Amino acid sequence: MVADGANIDRDGSVMTTGQRSPGEPLLSAQWARVRGRLQSEVGDVEYHTWLRQMSLGGIDGDEITVRLPTRFLRDWVRTHYGDRLNALWQAENRRVRRVDIRVGDGAPGEGVAEPASIAVSPPQAGGHASPDARTETAVALDPRFTFEQFVVGKPNEFAHACARRVAERPACVGFNPLFLYGGVGLGKTHLMHAIAWELTRNGDTGRGGAPVSVAYMSAEKFMYRFIAAIRSQSTMEFKEQLRSVDVLMIDDLQFLIGKDATQEEFFHTFNALVDSGKQIVVSADKSPSDLSGLEERVRTRLGCGMVADLHATTFELRVSILEAKVHLVSAPVPPKVLEFLAHKITSNIRELEGALNRLIAHANLFGRAITLESTQEVLHDILKAHDRRVTIEEIQRKVAEHWNIRLTDMSSARRARNVARPRQVAMYLAKQLTSRSLPDIGRRFGNRDHTTVMHAVQRVTELMALDASFADDVELLRRMLES
Ligand code: ADP
Ligand code: MG
Repeated sequence: MVADGANIDRDGSVMTTGQRSPGEPLLSAQWARVRGRLQSEVGDVEYHTWLRQMSLGGIDGDEITVRLPTRFLRDWVRTHYGDRLNALWQAENRRVRRVDIRVGDGAPGEGVAEPASIAVSPPQAGGHASPDARTETAVALDPRFTFEQFVVGKPNEFAHACARRVAERPACVGFNPLFLYGGVGLGKTHLMHAIAWELTRNGDTGRGGAPVSVAYMSAEKFMYRFIAAIRSQSTMEFKEQLRSVDVLMIDDLQFLIGKDATQEEFFHTFNALVDSGKQIVVSADKSPSDLSGLEERVRTRLGCGMVADLHATTFELRVSILEAKVHLVSAPVPPKVLEFLAHKITSNIRELEGALNRLIAHANLFGRAITLESTQEVLHDILKAHDRRVTIEEIQRKVAEHWNIRLTDMSSARRARNVARPRQVAMYLAKQLTSRSLPDIGRRFGNRDHTTVMHAVQRVTELMALDASFADDVELLRRMLES
């Protein structure tokens, strides 16, 4: 579901683009189709969040210029949709060889100025943030969960950038609510605490010159407090307390699924805060649209601001996180050991950190140097638990993520090369990394025939020999999948 404005915006900018392309009557129609395709590929929420403000700059020789209103948007679109834009344009117009994504004004009247800097807390008559509300509502923040200690890599750079933005300028237009989602142990709570730290540390002032009040709590805590308030007949106070903060953060919102009364209360608090220009930050394990079980109107509102996901970590990010951690405690852990851990423990950063801590503690206790051998010994049980076989589903997920296509396209009938090629790579990796038979693999890819799988394996092998960068991609995927 998209906010109401999306269609208007979309149509509006397509029209203005057309006016600015004299001599290219087809160009605006092509641009409309490119946008339409991109929207159906990435989904409404993502499109609305990111791509809605694109405008067509024009065509110069074989180069198309696409403009975005801010550097932030430009960088994001360039890194995450650049390839798709290129491919879609080339499919649409044979002349196009390159898409240049730039910062620039849209057509006049498009209203795409850099978001104005927003006061940390809008002055409000009669409102006074009581320090009590802050201390009572907020939960202690983890001192380790700061921005300084958050290692940024490809899988989390966007979520990190959004979190930074909110920490700098709460209630910034377009970033309210900030919705962070991702699997367990990928850094959602860390980022939320980091925002809270930053806001309270900055010495920014909210209403009446009081420090910005930030309330952070898990959805579970939110529910317990709500229930306790009902019991003690103090729901009014509870509501007022929550509504008096400048920034409200609710962690692990998925907990509210099926808790109808609490959800209702959250919804009202949410609306009241957003309407009075306060910042909301929410985390969950799924995107708003995938949180089935949450009421439609809640999901819709949650998806209206900035939705940022924390992707599964990459090997590189895991190594960087371990390095940062080792550096922090100045422990002598050889790089080989860090790489080994990053290969073995892939699912969750919390576990990865746990393993490293244990290794360091053990080395300290026994005064032994950390080596690959001692690591294997000390972490025997953890490593064994992670020594699982890679599944076809995992392969499909990783490959789809890598090439930015949908997981469902692994079994769809679509034959476009941008989909078919990754699908072939996934089949190839399934053959290489699992013990499944060809017919079995075919079945898992939308009931395809075993000859299709065979062909895919051959084709990928050939291509790897011909194209070094393609071979690198496949090798990288293999390394990520192999534990
Ligand atoms: P989530 O809330 O998504 O389940 P957490 O925020 O609790 O995950 O993160 C789990 C652990 O991993 C925490 O100790 C956190 O500090 C650490 N962590 C996660 N992401 C990063 C990162 N990018 N850099 C450093 N540490 C991280
Ligand atoms: Mg968490």
